[in-house]
Amino acid sequence: MDDLIVYFGLPDLIVLTLVVILAAELIGWALGRRGRKSLRWVAELLDGLAHGAVIVRQDGHVVLANSEAGQLWHGATFPKRLRGPLADLVKGAQDNDSHSVHSLAAPSRLRLQVRVTPLPSGLALLVLEDLTARQRQDAFYRNFVSNVSHELKTPLTVIQGHVSTLGDSLSDGDPRQTSLHVLSQEATRLTQLVDNLLVLSRLEMPDFSLDRRPVNLEAVIEDAILQLSDAAEARNVSLGLHRVPRQGSQDSHLPRIMADRARLKQVFINLLDNAIKYNRQGGEVLVRLRDDGARVLVQVTDTGEGIPEQDLPHIFEKLYRVERRQGRPVEGSGLGLSIVRRIVEQHQGSLSVESRLGEGTTFTINLPH
Ligand code: ADP
Repeated sequence: MDDLIVYFGLPDLIVLTLVVILAAELIGWALGRRGRKSLRWVAELLDGLAHGAVIVRQDGHVVLANSEAGQLWHGATFPKRLRGPLADLVKGAQDNDSHSVHSLAAPSRLRLQVRVTPLPSGLALLVLEDLTARQRQDAFYRNFVSNVSHELKTPLTVIQGHVSTLGDSLSDGDPRQTSLHVLSQEATRLTQLVDNLLVLSRLEMPDFSLDRRPVNLEAVIEDAILQLSDAAEARNVSLGLHRVPRQGSQDSHLPRIMADRARLKQVFINLLDNAIKYNRQGGEVLVRLRDDGARVLVQVTDTGEGIPEQDLPHIFEKLYRVERRQGRPVEGSGLGLSIVRRIVEQHQGSLSVESRLGEGTTFTINLPH
């Protein structure tokens, strides 16, 4: 059993919340006052769900299971008593009194996502979802995005080439230069979007793997800083790198880490690019690096506009951009941070963000050695 999938889609959460609220209310009511007859009514309600739903007692006795749960579990009616991994999941959730999400192989040979939620009166709710179908859907989406992006790449390169040739053939001061400049900017923007889509779909392919070698992280960050120095200069933003000594020591030496150099460079390019473009004119960006023995910590801090609190939980989602109500427009695709998150996850690292409106933002990355 592979544990803990931490992603929730909004529709999933709505279904789950509704089921939990209804189940808690109705089970108490049904068991207390109206007995078995009313249970059937709850069962009909659960049968209307697209997910498998099972309500169990602490001892593993199944109080209710909808027909979808039986189908998903082993293609027949759901067992009367929980045994094996499902029973363990319920026990774990009840012992910790906490909601949990797991992925496991069912006797039906389907891979299921199972969400366990403890309910009042020693009951627990299991919500089963067919991951095989979802994986198939995800694969379809990934392939579609990847194919469309590949198809767009060639015409975009041709457009950029011709725009550049046309520009060379016009004399300085020709009014058509303005239109060509706009065309060129838009073609560059589209190319960046397509490149980012291709990077992300590659990172999400099931067969994707990192090319891990011993990497000098400081050199990677220096490279990224060098690559963005023109962009920083254009906005008069200073870029700094500081190695912080370990706590209680003067030693700021950093060991090499086992990582994919090119992918890590992409992480810092994306973070620094944001730190520059969302900064104020004349602002600062500081990268701090520290080794704590088992992991290396990197913080990218800027003195920019900050991110509203309500947007913080969403900025790592694909295509999410904070709505700008005032100030200059800033170009972007809303894919940069999803790429960062994906690469950090692939390295078994962690990523967090802190921000204060009007003061600045700090992204923190932890990477294992
Ligand atoms: P984009 O291409 O729009 O920059 P990202 O995925 O890189 O997409 O970032 C998502 C959103 O998070 C951005 O649109 C921006 O609103 C916000 N954001 C990211 N980094 C910063 C930062 N350093 N300061 C302020 N806002 C930021």
